[in-house]
Amino acid sequence: MSFADLGLSDELLRAITEAGYSDPTPVQQQAIPSVLMMRDLIAIAQTGTGKTAAFVLPMIDVLGHGRTRARMPRSLILEPTRELAAQVAENFEKYGKYHKLSMALLIGGVQMGDQVKALEKGVDVLIATPGRLMDLFERGKILLNGCDLLVIDEADRMLDMGFIPDIENICTKLPASRQTLLFSATMPPPIKKLADKFLSNPKTIEVARPASTNVNITQVLVEVDARKKKDVLRDLLNADDVNTAIIFCNRKTTVRELAQSLQRSGFRATEIHGDMEQSARIKELDRFKSGDINILVASDVAARGLDIKGVSHVFNFDAPWHPDDYVHRIGRTGRAGATGKAFTFVTSADAEAIENIEKLTGQTLTRIKGSGESAAKAAPSSPEAADVAADDQPRPARRSRAKAAPKVEEAKAPAPKPERAARKPQEKPAPRREVAKPSEDSNDTGGWNGPMPDFLSHGFN
Ligand code: AMP
Repeated sequence: MSFADLGLSDELLRAITEAGYSDPTPVQQQAIPSVLMMRDLIAIAQTGTGKTAAFVLPMIDVLGHGRTRARMPRSLILEPTRELAAQVAENFEKYGKYHKLSMALLIGGVQMGDQVKALEKGVDVLIATPGRLMDLFERGKILLNGCDLLVIDEADRMLDMGFIPDIENICTKLPASRQTLLFSATMPPPIKKLADKFLSNPKTIEVARPASTNVNITQVLVEVDARKKKDVLRDLLNADDVNTAIIFCNRKTTVRELAQSLQRSGFRATEIHGDMEQSARIKELDRFKSGDINILVASDVAARGLDIKGVSHVFNFDAPWHPDDYVHRIGRTGRAGATGKAFTFVTSADAEAIENIEKLTGQTLTRIKGSGESAAKAAPSSPEAADVAADDQPRPARRSRAKAAPKVEEAKAPAPKPERAARKPQEKPAPRREVAKPSEDSNDTGGWNGPMPDFLSHGFN
Protein backbone atom coordinates (compact mmCIF):
# COMPACT_ATOMS: atom_id res chain seq x y z
CA MET A 1 0.00 0.00 0.00
CA SER A 2 1.35 3.45 -0.87
CA PHE A 3 0.66 6.87 0.67
CA ALA A 4 -1.31 7.75 -2.47
CA ASP A 5 -3.75 4.89 -1.70
CA LEU A 6 -4.66 6.45 1.63
CA GLY A 7 -6.58 9.40 0.21
CA LEU A 8 -4.12 12.17 1.08
CA SER A 9 -3.86 15.34 -1.02
CA ASP A 10 -1.23 15.85 -3.71
CA GLU A 11 0.47 18.63 -1.72
CA LEU A 12 0.81 16.33 1.23
CA LEU A 13 2.12 13.48 -0.92
CA ARG A 14 4.76 15.85 -2.23
CA ALA A 15 5.84 16.81 1.30
CA ILE A 16 5.93 13.12 2.31
CA THR A 17 8.14 12.25 -0.66
CA GLU A 18 10.43 15.14 0.15
CA ALA A 19 10.65 13.89 3.75
CA GLY A 20 12.00 10.67 2.26
CA TYR A 21 9.18 8.30 3.12
CA SER A 22 8.03 5.89 0.45
CA ASP A 23 5.56 3.58 2.21
CA PRO A 24 3.19 4.14 5.10
CA THR A 25 3.90 2.20 8.29
CA PRO A 26 1.18 -0.19 9.58
CA VAL A 27 -0.24 2.35 12.03
CA GLN A 28 -0.38 4.96 9.26
CA GLN A 29 -2.08 2.52 6.88
CA GLN A 30 -4.76 1.77 9.43
CA ALA A 31 -5.24 5.19 10.99
CA ILE A 32 -5.09 7.66 8.11
CA PRO A 33 -8.24 6.59 6.17
CA SER A 34 -10.29 6.55 9.40
CA VAL A 35 -9.11 9.99 10.47
CA LEU A 36 -9.89 11.38 7.01
CA MET A 37 -13.41 9.93 7.39
CA MET A 38 -13.71 11.85 10.68
CA ARG A 39 -13.98 8.72 12.82
CA ASP A 40 -12.86 8.54 16.41
CA LEU A 41 -9.80 6.38 16.84
CA ILE A 42 -7.98 4.43 19.52
CA ALA A 43 -4.48 3.51 18.37
CA ILE A 44 -2.38 1.27 20.58
CA ALA A 45 1.02 2.16 19.23
CA GLN A 46 4.32 3.33 20.57
CA THR A 47 6.83 5.85 19.48
CA GLY A 48 8.94 4.36 16.74
CA THR A 49 5.96 3.02 14.83
CA GLY A 50 5.34 6.20 12.83
CA LYS A 51 2.32 7.09 14.98
CA THR A 52 2.96 10.84 14.97
CA ALA A 53 2.58 11.06 11.21
CA ALA A 54 -0.48 8.79 11.54
CA PHE A 55 -2.37 11.73 13.05
CA VAL A 56 -0.39 14.71 11.72
CA LEU A 57 -0.80 13.78 8.03
CA PRO A 58 -4.59 13.39 7.92
CA MET A 59 -5.02 16.40 10.23
CA ILE A 60 -3.20 18.60 7.73
CA ASP A 61 -5.68 17.62 5.03
CA VAL A 62 -8.72 17.81 7.31
CA LEU A 63 -7.71 21.29 8.44
CA GLY A 64 -6.75 22.38 4.93
CA HIS A 65 -10.30 23.60 4.51
CA GLY A 66 -11.93 26.10 6.83
CA ARG A 67 -10.87 29.27 8.59
CA THR A 68 -9.45 30.20 11.93
CA ARG A 69 -11.18 32.38 14.50
CA ALA A 70 -9.55 34.47 17.20
CA ARG A 71 -8.78 32.57 20.41
CA MET A 72 -10.58 29.50 19.05
CA PRO A 73 -8.14 26.81 17.96
CA ARG A 74 -9.62 24.45 15.38
CA SER A 75 -7.77 21.40 16.67
CA LEU A 76 -5.95 20.45 19.83
CA ILE A 77 -3.14 17.97 20.40
CA LEU A 78 -2.33 17.09 24.00
CA GLU A 79 1.20 15.88 24.74
CA PRO A 80 2.68 14.83 28.10
CA THR A 81 5.98 16.69 27.76
CA ARG A 82 7.33 19.82 26.18
CA GLU A 83 9.80 17.88 24.07
CA LEU A 84 7.08 15.73 22.55
CA ALA A 85 4.94 18.79 21.89
CA ALA A 86 7.86 20.44 20.09
CA GLN A 87 8.46 17.27 18.11
CA VAL A 88 4.85 17.17 16.93
CA ALA A 89 5.19 20.81 15.90
CA GLU A 90 8.24 19.89 13.85
CA ASN A 91 6.18 17.20 12.13
CA PHE A 92 3.54 19.77 11.21
CA GLU A 93 6.25 22.00 9.78
CA LYS A 94 7.77 19.18 7.76
CA TYR A 95 4.58 17.73 6.27
CA GLY A 96 2.54 20.93 6.20
CA LYS A 97 4.94 23.01 4.15
CA TYR A 98 2.52 23.19 1.19
CA HIS A 99 -0.49 24.07 3.33
CA LYS A 100 -1.27 27.40 4.86
CA LEU A 101 -2.01 26.25 8.38
CA SER A 102 -1.16 28.16 11.51
CA MET A 103 0.02 26.56 14.71
CA ALA A 104 0.74 27.47 18.30
CA LEU A 105 2.46 25.63 21.09
CA LEU A 106 1.42 25.95 24.70
CA ILE A 107 4.02 24.35 26.86
CA GLY A 108 4.84 24.77 30.52
CA GLY A 109 7.78 26.84 31.63
CA VAL A 110 7.74 29.12 28.59
CA GLN A 111 6.80 32.76 28.88
CA MET A 112 3.24 33.16 27.74
CA GLY A 113 3.41 36.35 25.69
CA ASP A 114 4.12 34.88 22.24
CA GLN A 115 1.83 31.96 22.82
CA VAL A 116 -1.09 34.19 23.75
CA LYS A 117 -0.44 36.44 20.75
CA ALA A 118 -0.49 33.48 18.37
CA LEU A 119 -3.71 32.25 19.95
CA GLU A 120 -5.40 35.61 19.72
CA LYS A 121 -4.90 35.61 15.97
CA GLY A 122 -6.51 32.19 15.76
CA VAL A 123 -4.76 28.93 15.00
CA ASP A 124 -5.54 25.77 13.07
CA VAL A 125 -3.46 23.57 15.33
CA LEU A 126 -2.81 24.01 19.02
CA ILE A 127 -0.26 21.67 20.56
CA ALA A 128 -0.26 21.78 24.34
CA THR A 129 0.71 20.14 27.57
CA PRO A 130 -2.41 19.79 29.76
CA GLY A 131 -1.25 21.96 32.66
CA ARG A 132 -0.43 25.00 30.57
CA LEU A 133 -3.60 24.66 28.53
CA MET A 134 -5.81 24.60 31.63
CA ASP A 135 -3.92 27.57 33.01
CA LEU A 136 -4.66 29.70 29.95
CA PHE A 137 -8.21 28.43 29.69
CA GLU A 138 -8.90 29.46 33.26
CA ARG A 139 -7.56 32.93 32.52
CA GLY A 140 -10.03 33.24 29.66
CA LYS A 141 -7.29 33.46 27.03
CA ILE A 142 -8.56 30.55 25.05
CA LEU A 143 -11.91 29.16 23.93
CA LEU A 144 -12.22 25.47 23.21
CA ASN A 145 -15.74 25.38 21.83
CA GLY A 146 -14.52 25.76 18.25
CA CYS A 147 -12.17 22.82 18.54
CA ASP A 148 -13.51 19.97 16.41
CA LEU A 149 -10.56 17.63 16.55
CA LEU A 150 -8.77 16.43 19.66
CA VAL A 151 -5.69 14.22 19.82
CA ILE A 152 -4.67 12.69 23.14
CA ASP A 153 -1.14 11.41 22.52
CA GLU A 154 0.85 9.09 24.81
CA ALA A 155 -2.22 8.62 27.00
CA ASP A 156 -0.57 6.07 29.28
CA ARG A 157 2.31 8.44 29.91
CA MET A 158 -0.24 11.16 30.75
CA LEU A 159 -1.67 8.75 33.29
CA ASP A 160 1.75 8.18 34.82
CA MET A 161 2.26 11.90 35.11
CA GLY A 162 -1.06 12.55 36.79
CA PHE A 163 -2.66 14.43 33.88
CA ILE A 164 -5.86 12.41 33.51
CA PRO A 165 -8.06 14.77 35.62
CA ASP A 166 -6.86 17.71 33.47
CA ILE A 167 -7.61 15.76 30.29
CA GLU A 168 -11.10 14.87 31.49
CA ASN A 169 -11.65 18.51 32.30
CA ILE A 170 -10.42 19.61 28.87
CA CYS A 171 -12.65 17.05 27.11
CA THR A 172 -15.72 18.57 28.72
CA LYS A 173 -14.83 22.02 27.30
CA LEU A 174 -14.72 20.82 23.68
CA PRO A 175 -17.82 20.38 21.51
CA ALA A 176 -19.42 16.98 22.10
CA SER A 177 -19.53 16.42 18.34
CA ARG A 178 -15.75 16.67 17.95
CA GLN A 179 -13.54 13.95 16.52
CA THR A 180 -11.18 12.38 19.10
CA LEU A 181 -8.03 10.37 18.45
CA LEU A 182 -6.34 8.60 21.35
CA PHE A 183 -2.84 7.18 21.07
CA SER A 184 -1.34 5.05 23.80
CA ALA A 185 1.41 2.45 24.03
CA THR A 186 -0.62 0.40 26.48
CA MET A 187 -4.26 0.34 27.57
CA PRO A 188 -4.38 0.26 31.38
CA PRO A 189 -7.92 0.38 32.85
CA PRO A 190 -7.98 4.16 33.55
CA ILE A 191 -7.18 4.86 29.88
CA LYS A 192 -9.84 2.40 28.74
CA LYS A 193 -12.28 4.25 31.02
CA LEU A 194 -11.25 7.61 29.58
CA ALA A 195 -11.76 6.28 26.05
CA ASP A 196 -15.18 4.83 26.92
CA LYS A 197 -16.25 8.16 28.37
CA PHE A 198 -14.97 10.56 25.73
CA LEU A 199 -14.76 8.70 22.42
CA SER A 200 -17.73 7.73 20.36
CA ASN A 201 -17.81 4.49 18.39
CA PRO A 202 -14.04 4.54 17.89
CA LYS A 203 -12.15 2.36 15.49
CA THR A 204 -9.45 0.53 17.46
CA ILE A 205 -6.15 -0.38 15.91
CA GLU A 206 -3.16 -2.02 17.51
CA VAL A 207 0.32 -2.31 16.15
CA ALA A 208 2.97 -4.59 17.56
CA ARG A 209 5.22 -3.38 20.32
CA PRO A 210 8.60 -2.54 18.86
CA ALA A 211 10.39 -4.27 21.71
CA SER A 212 8.79 -7.60 21.10
CA THR A 213 8.92 -7.44 17.34
CA ASN A 214 11.69 -5.07 16.38
CA VAL A 215 14.11 -7.61 15.06
CA ASN A 216 16.49 -4.80 14.21
CA ILE A 217 17.60 -4.36 17.81
CA THR A 218 20.19 -6.70 19.30
CA GLN A 219 19.37 -6.87 22.99
CA VAL A 220 21.92 -7.98 25.54
CA LEU A 221 21.99 -8.11 29.33
CA VAL A 222 25.41 -7.36 30.76
CA GLU A 223 25.92 -8.88 34.20
CA VAL A 224 28.03 -6.44 36.09
CA ASP A 225 29.25 -5.63 39.58
CA ALA A 226 27.58 -2.34 40.59
CA ARG A 227 30.99 -0.81 41.34
CA LYS A 228 32.34 -1.72 37.91
CA LYS A 229 29.54 -0.24 35.79
CA LYS A 230 31.51 2.77 34.60
CA ASP A 231 34.53 0.66 33.65
CA VAL A 232 32.41 -1.80 31.70
CA LEU A 233 30.57 1.05 30.00
CA ARG A 234 33.81 2.75 28.96
CA ASP A 235 35.12 -0.50 27.54
CA LEU A 236 31.93 -1.11 25.58
CA LEU A 237 31.95 2.43 24.24
CA ASN A 238 35.51 1.95 23.09
CA ALA A 239 35.31 -1.56 21.79
CA ASP A 240 31.90 -1.87 20.21
CA ASP A 241 31.17 0.02 17.00
CA VAL A 242 29.43 2.88 18.75
CA ASN A 243 28.40 5.63 16.41
CA THR A 244 25.89 7.44 18.59
CA ALA A 245 24.62 6.28 21.95
CA ILE A 246 21.97 7.18 24.48
CA ILE A 247 22.76 6.04 28.00
CA PHE A 248 19.84 5.84 30.41
CA CYS A 249 20.11 6.16 34.16
CA ASN A 250 17.32 5.87 36.72
CA ARG A 251 18.24 8.99 38.68
CA LYS A 252 19.11 12.52 37.70
CA THR A 253 22.16 12.51 39.97
CA THR A 254 23.51 9.44 38.17
CA VAL A 255 22.90 11.14 34.81
CA ARG A 256 24.99 14.11 35.90
CA GLU A 257 27.76 12.07 37.48
CA LEU A 258 28.07 9.70 34.57
CA ALA A 259 28.10 12.43 31.91
CA GLN A 260 30.87 14.21 33.78
CA SER A 261 32.82 11.01 34.27
CA LEU A 262 32.60 10.20 30.53
CA GLN A 263 33.70 13.72 29.64
CA ARG A 264 36.67 13.35 31.96
CA SER A 265 37.56 10.15 30.09
CA GLY A 266 37.55 12.08 26.83
CA PHE A 267 34.19 11.02 25.43
CA ARG A 268 32.04 13.53 23.59
CA ALA A 269 29.19 13.17 26.05
CA THR A 270 26.44 15.40 27.40
CA GLU A 271 23.42 15.05 29.67
CA ILE A 272 19.71 15.70 29.58
CA HIS A 273 17.41 15.41 32.57
CA GLY A 274 14.37 16.99 34.14
CA ASP A 275 16.27 19.43 36.35
CA MET A 276 17.71 21.27 33.37
CA GLU A 277 15.97 24.27 31.92
CA GLN A 278 14.15 23.67 28.68
CA SER A 279 16.49 25.89 26.69
CA ALA A 280 19.51 23.95 27.98
CA ARG A 281 17.91 20.65 27.13
CA ILE A 282 17.08 21.75 23.60
CA LYS A 283 20.64 22.99 23.18
CA GLU A 284 22.15 19.68 24.26
CA LEU A 285 19.75 17.74 22.06
CA ASP A 286 20.68 19.88 19.08
CA ARG A 287 24.37 19.22 19.74
CA PHE A 288 23.60 15.51 19.78
CA LYS A 289 21.48 15.66 16.63
CA SER A 290 24.13 17.64 14.77
CA GLY A 291 26.90 15.17 15.70
CA ASP A 292 28.79 17.72 17.76
CA ILE A 293 28.64 15.14 20.53
CA ASN A 294 27.73 11.50 20.13
CA ILE A 295 26.83 10.30 23.62
CA LEU A 296 23.72 11.48 25.41
CA VAL A 297 23.25 10.49 29.06
CA ALA A 298 19.56 10.78 29.85
CA SER A 299 16.76 10.25 32.32
CA ASP A 300 13.56 8.58 31.19
CA VAL A 301 11.17 11.49 31.08
CA ALA A 302 13.65 13.86 29.47
CA ALA A 303 14.27 11.41 26.64
CA ARG A 304 10.78 10.01 26.27
CA GLY A 305 9.62 9.74 22.70
CA LEU A 306 12.47 11.80 21.34
CA ASP A 307 12.97 11.08 17.71
CA ILE A 308 16.67 11.10 17.03
CA LYS A 309 17.82 9.39 13.89
CA GLY A 310 20.68 6.94 13.61
CA VAL A 311 21.24 6.09 17.27
CA SER A 312 23.40 2.98 17.02
CA HIS A 313 23.43 2.04 20.71
CA VAL A 314 21.26 2.31 23.79
CA PHE A 315 22.84 1.53 27.14
CA ASN A 316 20.73 1.02 30.22
CA PHE A 317 23.35 2.01 32.76
CA ASP A 318 20.66 1.22 35.32
CA ALA A 319 18.14 -1.48 34.53
CA PRO A 320 14.82 0.36 34.30
CA TRP A 321 12.44 -0.11 37.20
CA HIS A 322 9.41 -0.37 34.96
CA PRO A 323 9.35 -2.79 32.04
CA ASP A 324 7.57 -0.33 29.74
CA ASP A 325 10.48 2.08 30.25
CA TYR A 326 12.72 -0.66 28.86
CA VAL A 327 10.56 -0.82 25.75
CA HIS A 328 10.65 2.95 25.34
CA ARG A 329 14.37 3.22 26.02
CA ILE A 330 15.55 0.60 23.56
CA GLY A 331 13.11 1.98 20.99
CA ARG A 332 15.51 4.95 20.61
CA THR A 333 17.64 2.68 18.43
CA GLY A 334 16.76 0.42 15.52
CA ARG A 335 14.33 3.05 14.21
CA ALA A 336 12.85 3.17 10.74
CA GLY A 337 14.57 0.04 9.47
CA ALA A 338 18.05 0.70 10.87
CA THR A 339 19.78 -1.80 13.13
CA GLY A 340 20.80 -1.03 16.69
CA LYS A 341 22.12 -2.54 19.88
CA ALA A 342 20.77 -2.28 23.39
CA PHE A 343 22.97 -3.20 26.34
CA THR A 344 21.32 -3.38 29.75
CA PHE A 345 23.54 -3.51 32.84
CA VAL A 346 22.27 -5.97 35.40
CA THR A 347 23.42 -6.16 38.99
CA SER A 348 22.32 -8.62 41.63
CA ALA A 349 19.65 -6.13 42.72
CA ASP A 350 17.94 -6.13 39.29
CA ALA A 351 16.62 -9.70 39.12
CA GLU A 352 12.97 -8.67 39.52
CA ALA A 353 13.21 -5.83 37.01
CA ILE A 354 14.69 -8.16 34.40
CA GLU A 355 12.06 -10.80 35.07
CA ASN A 356 9.37 -8.19 34.43
CA ILE A 357 11.05 -7.01 31.21
CA GLU A 358 11.27 -10.56 29.90
CA LYS A 359 7.65 -11.16 30.83
CA LEU A 360 6.47 -8.02 29.07
CA THR A 361 8.48 -8.49 25.90
CA GLY A 362 8.01 -12.25 25.79
CA GLN A 363 11.72 -12.73 25.24
CA THR A 364 14.53 -14.38 27.12
CA LEU A 365 17.41 -11.96 26.74
CA THR A 366 20.96 -13.04 26.06
CA ARG A 367 23.28 -12.58 29.05
CA ILE A 368 26.95 -11.86 28.95
CA LYS A 369 29.44 -11.22 31.73
CA GLY A 370 30.46 -7.60 31.93
CA SER A 371 34.09 -7.39 32.79
CA GLY A 372 35.07 -4.61 30.46
CA GLU A 373 36.72 -5.51 27.18
CA SER A 374 35.49 -9.07 27.38
CA ALA A 375 31.91 -7.84 27.51
CA ALA A 376 32.34 -6.06 24.21
CA LYS A 377 33.90 -9.11 22.62
CA ALA A 378 31.16 -11.38 23.84
CA ALA A 379 28.34 -9.14 22.64
CA PRO A 380 26.47 -10.68 19.73
CA SER A 381 26.79 -8.73 16.49
CA SER A 382 23.21 -9.06 15.28
CA PRO A 383 19.75 -9.87 16.55
CA GLU A 384 20.02 -13.37 15.07
CA ALA A 385 23.35 -13.89 16.78
CA ALA A 386 21.83 -12.70 20.03
CA ASP A 387 19.44 -15.63 19.93
CA VAL A 388 22.31 -18.10 19.97
CA ALA A 389 24.91 -15.99 21.70
CA ALA A 390 25.23 -18.25 24.67
CA ASP A 391 26.87 -20.86 22.44
CA ASP A 392 28.75 -18.42 20.25
CA GLN A 393 32.44 -17.95 19.89
CA PRO A 394 33.28 -14.41 20.97
CA ARG A 395 33.91 -12.23 17.90
CA PRO A 396 36.92 -9.98 17.86
CA ALA A 397 36.11 -6.51 19.14
CA ARG A 398 36.00 -3.96 16.36
CA ARG A 399 38.56 -1.33 17.08
CA SER A 400 37.55 1.09 14.35
CA ARG A 401 36.39 4.25 16.04
CA ALA A 402 36.26 6.47 13.01
CA LYS A 403 32.86 7.79 13.95
CA ALA A 404 32.85 6.77 17.57
CA ALA A 405 33.60 8.99 20.51
CA PRO A 406 37.32 9.59 20.32
CA LYS A 407 39.29 9.37 23.51
CA VAL A 408 41.56 12.28 24.21
CA GLU A 409 45.22 11.51 24.05
CA GLU A 410 45.98 9.14 26.85
CA ALA A 411 48.75 11.31 28.27
CA LYS A 412 46.43 14.30 28.61
CA ALA A 413 43.51 12.43 30.02
CA PRO A 414 43.00 13.11 33.70
CA ALA A 415 43.48 10.13 35.96
CA PRO A 416 40.18 8.34 36.43
CA LYS A 417 38.58 9.04 39.76
CA PRO A 418 38.34 6.04 42.02
CA GLU A 419 34.85 4.60 42.12
CA ARG A 420 33.01 5.21 45.30
CA ALA A 421 33.01 1.98 47.20
CA ALA A 422 29.79 2.48 49.09
CA ARG A 423 26.67 3.25 47.10
CA LYS A 424 23.25 4.12 48.23
CA PRO A 425 21.04 1.04 48.29
CA GLN A 426 18.63 0.87 45.34
CA GLU A 427 15.51 2.80 46.10
CA LYS A 428 12.36 0.93 45.35
CA PRO A 429 10.22 2.79 42.86
CA ALA A 430 6.73 3.93 43.69
CA PRO A 431 4.18 1.72 41.93
CA ARG A 432 3.79 3.47 38.60
CA ARG A 433 0.05 3.63 38.21
CA GLU A 434 -0.38 5.22 41.62
CA VAL A 435 1.67 8.29 40.87
CA ALA A 436 -0.70 11.19 41.27
CA LYS A 437 1.62 14.08 40.51
CA PRO A 438 4.09 14.50 37.68
CA SER A 439 7.08 12.32 38.48
CA GLU A 440 10.41 13.50 39.82
CA ASP A 441 11.80 13.92 36.35
CA SER A 442 8.62 15.47 35.02
CA ASN A 443 9.39 18.43 32.87
CA ASP A 444 6.13 20.24 32.54
CA THR A 445 6.67 22.59 35.41
CA GLY A 446 10.23 23.84 35.26
CA GLY A 447 11.00 27.40 34.34
CA TRP A 448 12.25 28.44 30.95
CA ASN A 449 12.69 32.08 30.28
CA GLY A 450 14.95 31.81 27.29
CA PRO A 451 13.96 32.64 23.75
CA MET A 452 11.74 30.15 21.99
CA PRO A 453 12.81 28.50 18.77
CA ASP A 454 10.87 30.08 15.89
CA PHE A 455 8.65 27.14 15.20
CA LEU A 456 7.41 27.09 18.79
CA SER A 457 5.53 30.31 18.50
CA HIS A 458 4.86 31.04 14.85
CA GLY A 459 2.55 29.83 12.22
CA PHE A 460 3.92 27.90 9.30
CA ASN A 461 3.17 28.08 5.63
P1 AMP B 1 7.09 8.07 15.71
O1 AMP B 1 6.53 6.69 15.97
O2 AMP B 1 6.05 9.03 15.33
O3 AMP B 1 7.94 8.50 16.86
O4 AMP B 1 8.05 7.97 14.41
C1 AMP B 1 9.21 7.18 14.40
C2 AMP B 1 10.12 7.51 13.24
O5 AMP B 1 9.64 6.97 12.02
C3 AMP B 1 10.33 8.98 12.98
O6 AMP B 1 11.70 9.16 12.75
C4 AMP B 1 9.60 9.27 11.70
O7 AMP B 1 10.21 10.32 11.00
C5 AMP B 1 9.75 7.94 10.98
N1 AMP B 1 8.66 7.67 10.05
C6 AMP B 1 7.37 8.05 10.16
N2 AMP B 1 6.67 7.58 9.12
C7 AMP B 1 7.52 6.89 8.34
C8 AMP B 1 7.39 6.15 7.12
N3 AMP B 1 6.21 6.02 6.52
N4 AMP B 1 8.48 5.57 6.61
C9 AMP B 1 9.67 5.65 7.25
N5 AMP B 1 9.88 6.33 8.40
C10 AMP B 1 8.81 6.94 8.95
